[in-house]
Amino acid sequence: MTIRHRPKVRRWHEETSQGEAWCYQVRCSCGEEFDEHYTKRLAESDKARHLMDVAPPVSERCRDPKKHRTQSHDYCPVCANQLCLPGFEGLEATG
Ligand SMILES: [Zn+2]
Ligand SMILES: [Zn+2]
Repeated sequence: MTIRHRPKVRRWHEETSQGEAWCYQVRCSCGEEFDEHYTKRLAESDKARHLMDVAPPVSERCRDPKKHRTQSHDYCPVCANQLCLPGFEGLEATG
């Protein structure tokens, strides 16, 4: 089964010594949680970093996310299998 990563930025209000502030934290559908930040930009960069960390090799990513109902950082069995078309790895198929 393929784990889908759908990180979301959670936002909440917090009392600090400086007054009220917004806090942001990224949580992903895979269970990964990230540090709390006071700026959304830092949370967004956690999210981008996580997607880069978990993304499969370019050859296995989806090249047609709309059609395959995936996102561009997902492993896509349809697109990954397309690499095995006859002729693409012809040199290895002779053994
Ligand atoms: Zn994840
Ligand atoms: Zn695909």
